[in-house]
Amino acid sequence: MDRKLFFERLAAPGVRRLQPYLPGKPNDELEREYGIRESIKLASNENPLGPPAVALEAARACLPDMALYPDGSGFHLKAALAAHLRLDPERLTLGNGSNDILVLLAQTFLTPDVEVVYDEHAFIIYRLTAQAAGAISRVVPSNPVDGPQPYGHDLNAFGAALTEQTRLVFIANPNNPTGTWVARDALYKFMVRVPEHAIVVVDEAYCEYVTRDDYPHTLDWLDEFPNLVITRTFSKIYALAGMRVGYAISDPALAELLNRVRQPFNVGSPAQAAATAALADQVFVAKARQLNADGLQQLTEGLNAVGCRTVPSVANFVLVDVGQPADPIYESLLRVGIIVRPVGNYGLPNHLRISVGLPEQNDRLLTEMKRLRK
Ligand SMILES: *Cc1c(COP(=O)(O)O)cnc(C)c1O
Repeated sequence: MDRKLFFERLAAPGVRRLQPYLPGKPNDELEREYGIRESIKLASNENPLGPPAVALEAARACLPDMALYPDGSGFHLKAALAAHLRLDPERLTLGNGSNDILVLLAQTFLTPDVEVVYDEHAFIIYRLTAQAAGAISRVVPSNPVDGPQPYGHDLNAFGAALTEQTRLVFIANPNNPTGTWVARDALYKFMVRVPEHAIVVVDEAYCEYVTRDDYPHTLDWLDEFPNLVITRTFSKIYALAGMRVGYAISDPALAELLNRVRQPFNVGSPAQAAATAALADQVFVAKARQLNADGLQQLTEGLNAVGCRTVPSVANFVLVDVGQPADPIYESLLRVGIIVRPVGNYGLPNHLRISVGLPEQNDRLLTEMKRLRK
């Protein structure tokens, strides 16, 4: 028998249909394949400023101790987060990136007979973790393209998808790859309606970038809704994607469950040190936020000027409708050393997701888009 088939039959049922996650192409791979140099990557929503200097310094200072296991309780990082967010450290669970947290939630709460609710164009990891656990996905259609908040989450439809069997609800705020957000009133109304057996995971990976007044302060709702879990990360505005640090904020009893499932040493020492130092550098965060707001405007206006529709975004990337199958445009950009993200696997074959870069990188992208649209 074919070996692929042989092992597939041995695998857990949920794993058999699983498609691997497609990451953005790394620069060095592109440069090797195409024999080019000075490529730019606007494909993985990374912070173009690079890491804060204090984080780099803190990680370096840890390296002589690399023979030792990290602090499995994450004491210092949790204490710093608790002080920064003004909450009890018992509400925190640390993850190897917030992706790890999403997997922990699935491992903790999903079985083949329960249901998971998420949006059709939501972050793909929700689907992958639900499938791997063999749980039933209730996929909710996004807002229509011609209404307000096109491609955004429709929380009324989310509400209608809830059943006795619902165990996890994933809300990405803002969502990746659409950049759309859920406003405070809509989310609060939804929370009031959710039964307590359904755990609502609000994924706030990009929250620090959001400048809108109607963005919810979900931290204030933790006491009112024990079934609320907030996930955040150091990968995005804190510029530590390679370090892999994320966290969940929840009811302490729920955190205690996640900690039973969590691998004891899931966040390395340099990662913990870098995150703790980065958290203290809010000047860096403010600078990154401003750079992003300017870059988002530059990209949106520039893309609209060459006839591409953009989806209003509050994150560090923008979803662009190129009005034709996007793969050839993606390929043409690769040939000139610009990596963006095709999103056909999100059911968006005519769109590209473009991360906000430095002003000159955004310019280079816009120049090429203008050339390609001719
Ligand atoms: C990037 C991203 C994450 C987190 O990534 P980690 O690096 O694992 O923290 C989580 N959710 C969304 C929606 C993202 O785009």
